[in-house]
Amino acid sequence: MADLVMVIEDEKEIRDLVRYNLERAGFRVALADNGEDGLERIFAARPDAVVLDLMLPGLSGLEVLRELRGEPVTRDLPVVVLTARAAEMDKLLGFEHGADDYLTKPFSPRELVARLQALLRRARPSRAEPVVQVGGLRVDADAREARFLGKPLTLTPREFDLLAFLAHHAGRVLSREELLRKVWGYDYLGETRTVDVHVRRLRLKLGERHHVIETVTGAGYKLVAPKKPAERRGKKS
Ligand code: CA
Repeated sequence: MADLVMVIEDEKEIRDLVRYNLERAGFRVALADNGEDGLERIFAARPDAVVLDLMLPGLSGLEVLRELRGEPVTRDLPVVVLTARAAEMDKLLGFEHGADDYLTKPFSPRELVARLQALLRRARPSRAEPVVQVGGLRVDADAREARFLGKPLTLTPREFDLLAFLAHHAGRVLSREELLRKVWGYDYLGETRTVDVHVRRLRLKLGERHHVIETVTGAGYKLVAPKKPAERRGKKS
C-alpha cells in the first residue's frame, strides 16, 4: 500500500507541484492549505509523513510542528519542513522544534521525494530488521513466522500482519483506526471492530500469557514485553 503524505502549504502552485511529484513517485497525497486544517487532517488520516510549509496563515508551521511533537501518536511522524528563508533554517538546524529534515524554497521536487523516501525508510525499522524480538515473542517478517515462548504460532496472514505490526511498534499505543489503516490497508472499508475481533483471536493463540497485548482504554492496543507471572498477579487486565 502506498504511503500517505500530508502536504500543508498555502501556496497553490507549490501545493500542486508537490502533489504532482509525490504522486508520480508513488505516494498518496492529502492536501491542506493552512495549519489548523492540516493538524486536524493529520490526526484523522494518520499519514506516514508530512511536508510542512513554515509560513502559513494563522497557525504557523512551527506551531503545527510543536503540536505534532507534543502528541504521542505523532511524536515520531516524519516531517519535512519547507522554508522560504535560509535564515529560518538556522532555527531548525538544531532540530529543536523537531523537524526531521528541511528544504529551502525554491527546492527541487526530486530532492523532496528523495528526502521523504529516506525518512520513511528510517521510520520503518521493520524493513531493515525483519526479525523483531519482544520479550518471549519473536516475529520474522521475511519468513512470516512468529514464535511465542519458543513455540511457533499458527496464524492467518492477517493475524500475522497484526502481530508483526504490534511487535514492531512495541510499547506504543496504536489506535484501532491506525491498525486498520496500516495493517488492513488504507482503502479497506471496515469497522474498527474488525481489529478487536482479530486481537481477541491473537490473544487466544498466545494462550495464558496473552496479556502481552494490552488494551489501552479509550486509545487502542499496545504490545508489551511479557512480565513474570508474579508481577502480573493482582493486575487488572
Ligand atoms: Ca507559505
